[in-house]
Amino acid sequence: MTPLNTESHVLRTGIGFDAHGLVKGRVLVLGGIRVPHTHGLAGHSDGDVLLHAIADALLGALALPDIGTRFPDTDPAYKDADSTVLLRDVVSEVGRAGYRVVNLDCILVCDSPAIGPHSAAMRESIAALAGVAADAVGLKAKTTEGTGLAVRNQSIAAFATVLLTRSE
Ligand code: MG
Repeated sequence: MTPLNTESHVLRTGIGFDAHGLVKGRVLVLGGIRVPHTHGLAGHSDGDVLLHAIADALLGALALPDIGTRFPDTDPAYKDADSTVLLRDVVSEVGRAGYRVVNLDCILVCDSPAIGPHSAAMRESIAALAGVAADAVGLKAKTTEGTGLAVRNQSIAAFATVLLTRSE
């Protein structure tokens, strides 16, 4: 892959998306924190869709392959992996590429559980992982009003955008 020309790109943006099914017998982890719920997210890792979308946004901003390529689900090393570890690795990659995070904006598409009581903790968690202040992390939770976008109460999806600036 052609190395990034950091001299010619002061700012870079990225976008990420992920979705996982809700299943019984798993702990629900969103934004790096445990959320009490009857179901958790299926996945090879801990299934944290929000951190996965953010990691993909960061990798996308660097025009690097997505987390499915970086952390293959065929690799036993990532079985039940803590997604905060995966995101920290990606944030380190951002630093090595000569950039830092300016801000992030995220949407959780989620009919249940209610995200409001946990959103402040999620923003703090994401901010700490990304190396920014909590006011640099936007987080909105949207229900799907029965449209089936998140297949009512059976899945959670997440979108994320990120802005990077060249490190001084
Ligand atoms: Mg995922």
